[in-house]
Amino acid sequence: MEYFPTFIVLLASFLLRSSFAFQPPNVIILFADDLGLGDLGCYGHPSSLTPNLDKIAVKGLRFTDFYSTSPACSPSRAALLTGRYQTRSGIYPGVFYPGSRGGLPLNETTIAEVLNPLGYATAIIGKWHLGVGPDRMYLPTNQGFDHYLGIPYSHDQGPCQNLTCFPPDIKCFGTCDQGVVTVPLFANDTIKQQPVSFPDLEKSYSDFATQFIMTNARRKQPFFLYYPSHHTHYPQFAGKVTTGKSHRGPFGDSLMEFDSTVGDIIQALVDSGVHNNTFVFFTADNGPELLRMSRGGNAGLLKCGKDTTYEGGMREPAIAYWPGRIQAGVTHALTSTLDLLPTVARLAGAKLPRVQLDGFDMSDILFRHGPSKREAMFYYPTGASEKHGPFAVRLGRFKAHYFTAGSIKSSTTPDQDCHETAHLKYHDTPLLFDLETDPSENYNLATPDHPEYKAVLQLIQDVKTDFEGGMVFGEAQVGKGTDPALEPCCAPQCTPKPTCCSCS
Ligand code: MG
Repeated sequence: MEYFPTFIVLLASFLLRSSFAFQPPNVIILFADDLGLGDLGCYGHPSSLTPNLDKIAVKGLRFTDFYSTSPACSPSRAALLTGRYQTRSGIYPGVFYPGSRGGLPLNETTIAEVLNPLGYATAIIGKWHLGVGPDRMYLPTNQGFDHYLGIPYSHDQGPCQNLTCFPPDIKCFGTCDQGVVTVPLFANDTIKQQPVSFPDLEKSYSDFATQFIMTNARRKQPFFLYYPSHHTHYPQFAGKVTTGKSHRGPFGDSLMEFDSTVGDIIQALVDSGVHNNTFVFFTADNGPELLRMSRGGNAGLLKCGKDTTYEGGMREPAIAYWPGRIQAGVTHALTSTLDLLPTVARLAGAKLPRVQLDGFDMSDILFRHGPSKREAMFYYPTGASEKHGPFAVRLGRFKAHYFTAGSIKSSTTPDQDCHETAHLKYHDTPLLFDLETDPSENYNLATPDHPEYKAVLQLIQDVKTDFEGGMVFGEAQVGKGTDPALEPCCAPQCTPKPTCCSCS
């Protein structure tokens, strides 16, 4: 009966393509980098130019209480793609580097791997940041993606060549990582260009996305496009069309360029006739890098930014868009990047991976503006550890901080709590904030004047104890360290490294 599974796959594939069967929706996830709650026009920024995101926010559903799972890149991306806190997959402590030995374990199931068995075409463009590793084993093409075009880590994790910024004579701001290979552009698992040409990068992403959408729409094949952008991470760059065109300097130009690709993607959906059968979701990986001051993004009214477990580090703008299906509006439902995998699986009719998931299906919120199934959110720091567990917990409207720490990445604000000098502090009685009446975390309620909040703290403690009882930390992948020989080089045998790794 060996032919039997093959028969089932062929039958499923036939049904998917036949006109009288359920048409699984296409899925597009747009993921900005180091972008805060206050950065988009539709979230109140007075000078950002984000007309395309603003348009899908008006026609779609805008979230006010949406969270990433980490105030830093790699762990946040792992959680989005797997529907699991990054501690389970081992994406701690910190982020991956070009020569990292570890990566997102191959036995983790990504959204692409959830959709692939249903006949979806899958592609990622942009910043992977979940490892390259020995023999490039951790690249997206080994994690369920048919196609990859992009830079597999942050674009400041190399000597910052080929950046154009505004004013044009300034090629690079501040410091990028030195003594490592220049930033490569991968096509699948091959280096296409090293160093990458930043002024041309966004156009190549936009062209790829448009082509991918058109091709699959023509074939009537459902598709999943994941676009984790380099924008608006420091050091910002932009191509000819947007450089110097925003009202907000280099950060605004970078954001504007991202927004323009969003516009190209939506237009491609319309042109290919699939926009009424495509679920589009936008959010960002972590809060603004305030260290870069006006080039670092804006958390709006939230406290602190990147690399902190205050709201500014992890509460993000989010927009869901699906014309004809998602009713326009605003939702205050407590939601997270963790919820994308179960939601997408439900929309596509896919099976959930048989692992401990931390996400909840958001369908009721999307289609009926219903309540969230999520009751709590756990805030792990960038350097998550079993010893400390989550630094903070949100339960309903209340948030308790068990540990607080500032960070160099948030060190420029007037609020001293955000700074590097605010060292790790354990709160015997956790700090307690009501995020509905006090989203800026200004007024601690856990004081002797407010004994009525003792019961709230006890409830949060019970939820935390229960959660931690079920948390199994995976082997620390970032903790495996780095090996310079693993840095991606387009001329592997060349000398002297890393400077010889150069191919146009
Ligand atoms: Mg980031």
